[in-house]
Formats: sequence, C-alpha cells, structure tokens
Amino acid sequence: MPTELWVKNGLVFTDEGFQEVNIKIIDERIDSLVKIQAEPLIEKTEAIIDASGCLVVPGFIDAHVHFNDPGRTEWEGMETGSKAAAIGGTTTIFDMPLNCSPSITNMKHLTRKKGYLSVLSSIDYALWGGMTADNLQNRSELAQMSEGIIAWKAFMSASGIEDFPCVSPNELKQAMQAAKEHDKILALHAEWEEEISRLTAYYKNRPRMNERKAFLASRPVSAEEKAVRYALELAAKYGTALHFVHISSAKVVELIEQAKKSGVDVTVETCPHYLIFDEEDFNKNGAIYKCAPPLRPRDEVEGLWDCLANGLIDTIGSDHSPCLYSMKSTDSIWDAWGGIQGVQFTWLAVMDEALERKIPLKYILPLGSSNVAQRFGIAGRKGRIQPGLDADLVLIRLDETTVADQKSFAFRNRYSPYEDREFFLKIKKTLLRGKVIYDDQAGVTKEKFGQSL
Ligand SMILES: [Zn+2]
Repeated sequence: MPTELWVKNGLVFTDEGFQEVNIKIIDERIDSLVKIQAEPLIEKTEAIIDASGCLVVPGFIDAHVHFNDPGRTEWEGMETGSKAAAIGGTTTIFDMPLNCSPSITNMKHLTRKKGYLSVLSSIDYALWGGMTADNLQNRSELAQMSEGIIAWKAFMSASGIEDFPCVSPNELKQAMQAAKEHDKILALHAEWEEEISRLTAYYKNRPRMNERKAFLASRPVSAEEKAVRYALELAAKYGTALHFVHISSAKVVELIEQAKKSGVDVTVETCPHYLIFDEEDFNKNGAIYKCAPPLRPRDEVEGLWDCLANGLIDTIGSDHSPCLYSMKSTDSIWDAWGGIQGVQFTWLAVMDEALERKIPLKYILPLGSSNVAQRFGIAGRKGRIQPGLDADLVLIRLDETTVADQKSFAFRNRYSPYEDREFFLKIKKTLLRGKVIYDDQAGVTKEKFGQSL
C-alpha cells in the first residue's frame, strides 16, 4: 500500500520560480504539483504537512564536506555531521576522500568506508575518491574505484594529510587523463604549491610580523590564479571535466568563466565563508577562521557576490572541515588545523546574506540544488521539486530568526565562526525522500534514513 503525503499551502520553488502549489508525495517521490485551490479539498485519508507561510525549496546538496569517518570520528563523524546538515536543510552530501583515515585512495578503503557508513547517516550521501601522487599509476585500481564514487578529488598543494599527497604539475597531467578515461569529474584544490611553500618558508621566518597577517600573505590569490590557469590549460588539452572547489576570488572566477566560454568543461564552487567573512575576521579571531585558501579582503567578498549575481558561480559547498578544538587553540597560527566548521549554517548564512543584498533567492538556490545535481549526474533523482524526483524538501520561514548559539550546534566539536550570528530566517522542517527528518520542535529523527546514492 503506497503512502501518500501532501505538503500544502507553501510557496514552492519550482523550475518556473516560486509558485503556490501543493506537493503530492507518494512513498519517497514527488508525484505531482497541484495548483492550490481557493478552498483546498481535504480528504480524510491524506497525511498533510501544512506549509502555510513557508517557502518550500529543494533539499540542499552539499558536494563538499569532510565528516572524517571512519578513522577520525572524534573530529566529526557521519552521525553528528549528517545531523547538523539535516538541521541546516541539507539532504545530500558528498563526503571528501580525506580527513577520514585511511584516505579513500583504493578499493579496499572505499569498500570499507561504504560499509561502515551504511547505518550512520540521517541524510543521503555519496563518496569522493582521491587521486594522489601515490595511486595515480595504478590505473586498474582507479578504474574500479570510479564505479563507486561520485567524482575525483586531487590537491595541487599539500593537503595536510599524510596519506593524501598532492599531485605535482606533471602528475596533474596524468590525473587529467585518468579522470577523462573513466568519465568522471576531477575536482581540484587549486593553489600553486611551489609558490605557497616558498612564501610559507619566507613568512614563517619573519618573527616581528603579525603571525596572522603573515599566514594570509603566504597564500595569496596569485597562487590560486596560477594553479587554476595551469589546470584549465590541461583540461582544454585533455578534455577533462573539471570542478574547482572553494574558489575565493572574483579574478579567478573570471578566469574560469573565460575557459567555459572557450569550451572547457569546467564548473566552480565557492563556500559560504568566502561570502560572509573576510580577512579582518581572521585577523581578529584567529584559528577558528583559518582555512585554505584563506579568508580574503572585503573587496574580494564583494567581487564574489557580483560573480554570484551574474551567474558565474555554479555551486556553493560548505567545505565543512572540523577538527578537535585543541587543534585550533595552538600557540602559533601556523600550527592550527585549517578548516571551517559550518555545515549546519551554510544555507541559512547564504540565504540570509542574499536577502540582505536583495539578490532574489531564485538565483541562489540552484547553487545548492539543481546545479549540483546536474553537474554530478544525479539530476534524475535530486535537486528539483518536480514529479518523479526524490521528495527532499526544506520548509523555511522568512519571518522567524535563527541564532547560531553554541547549544544548538549538532556537529561534534562545538565551535564555529558562525557562533552567535543571527539569521533572519528559520528552517522549520527538512524532508528526506518523503520523511520528515528534522522538525524545529522535535529535532532530528533518531532513525537514520540516509542511504548511499
Ligand atoms: Zn575541503
């Protein structure tokens, strides 16, 4: 007997923009969108969620999280990470192949991770595979792995994780070819290693300079630019589909835009922290705001918003990358672990900021839904509110507020640059495949409904 559920009276984000429609859900999928009648017919048999006063948007897809499971569960873990994501309206994540331990660079580790995660997630998920200096030569292993992953990730600068060595400029050529051969996207952490390691050595050796400013100077936009320029040339040559993660500067986005126009198959992600915070937040507050690339000057933040408003950025990912608090409270900023913790607040923060800037949500929402689904080949299941797709929905009120107080943090280690920030909107419910997995009164369901895609 199929289960029927209606989400009624909401303002629903569809391909035609926001519409007043009722959503009929049969089991896990959206069955149909029905124009709201003046007097809605309510049959006794129907289960109904009343979305009056709410925006109803597609469940967010976050293509960039580090939940560190298995192996570094004390940093986060799938249980806590997916719970925090669900509270923030995210219904699908792609977990990165590093910061779990071991890193996902072979079949054995991939299979083990899949088995381990299978009962732990509140939301749906897919896994990234890692391409590193170590596994690049092993093409048969890569071929097998490519069947079980959403896409490839490689680093052009040191990752900070021992079993995830970055690829040299020369090795990147092989990575491009391998990704192309197995028909999977290659995502790059693009900073030019030679420049960064040279500048790091130089600035670490300037004891009278403010340490935080020295750290910022060690990872300039020029290092990002150089890496992106080089990777784009290779992608054009080898026909590889590229995805740049966490781009922090408009100048670099524009470089990517030019390549797109010349026919390179490339997309670009930025992260909420580059859209909200700037280098002064880091200078003032230190390690909790440390990430790579680092937070940039305010004019770069403004530049990224211009890019967003002009449709030059394809996706927004949280790059949720936590660690133990002790790893943030080091004596020297150079020793602090880099990574921003914020999966619970990604879309609250981005939507809030967009509303503040009077950028219509219809331009912003696809960056966390349909664009991601399209790019990573899951548009047949996820990313839109449309008949036939998974009923992953978020109910949002614009007339209520959310305060990111520490008590509300669902991720394991209770610190975040978003702490105490107020967002002028509130997520009321999150639905995953037709089930309410989060409700602002009842919290996240104990039962874990998340599945591997
Ligand atoms: Zn990352």
